[in-house]
Amino acid sequence: MSKIRTRIYKTDGIILKQIPFLEKDRIITIYSQEYGKLRLIAKGIRSPKSKFGGSLETLNSVSLSIIKRNSIDLITESYTNVTYLNIRNNLKLLSKSMYWIELIDSLTVENEPVKNMFPLTEFTLNLINENNCNDLCLRYLELKLIIISGYSPEFFECTYCRNKLEPTDHFFSFNDGGIFCGKCKINSNTTLLKISLNCMKIIRLLYREKDINNIQKINLEKNILLEIENFLLSYLKYILEKDIKSYKFIKTISEI
Ligand SMILES: [Zn+2]
Repeated sequence: MSKIRTRIYKTDGIILKQIPFLEKDRIITIYSQEYGKLRLIAKGIRSPKSKFGGSLETLNSVSLSIIKRNSIDLITESYTNVTYLNIRNNLKLLSKSMYWIELIDSLTVENEPVKNMFPLTEFTLNLINENNCNDLCLRYLELKLIIISGYSPEFFECTYCRNKLEPTDHFFSFNDGGIFCGKCKINSNTTLLKISLNCMKIIRLLYREKDINNIQKINLEKNILLEIENFLLSYLKYILEKDIKSYKFIKTISEI
């Protein structure tokens, strides 16, 4: 048998999760800039003298050296770039961050990088770490994430007749990723979510706005904020075909 050729590569990434493997190892899932999501093995990381120390903790932003193997690629070196200390010391910030990385993990498949997902994730974690990510900002970033993941909804014209939407209540079809106008809603073959006009105005604003500083200045009534949250969360659940576990964590923490 010929010697197996190994290939060493480097990448920057955010640690999404890690699970114990065998006696002393961990399987580490990262979202990397160059390769998208990767599942890697860190050998010996659970032994007290491990060379990795705490560098591969979930949420850390790291630079890794990796050896390509036939099975699962092996991390040989790791360097921590950012540890997001404020997030680790604040349950509210931690719950938002865990929610975000669960979304990233759920929306991606291995070895398929999504354009702008890495910078958006770094940006989001930095914002949360600085305690500058209020609920509406998180909704804004969620919507950006939905768009870059290829599920951009249609908010401006009827998804059925293509006419411009009238300023009235709207009916969103998760199945079609768009809105049915009052006349066409009888043609939908799925359940529609009613969205109030005020809520839709803010959703359109989130959709168009390029600068998050302008989102931070908006002061919304609680019921509109909850309606936006319900809409985006329902859409994400539809896309992912599952519940988002960390969302419950956010809710529990916010009630403390
Ligand atoms: Zn229509």
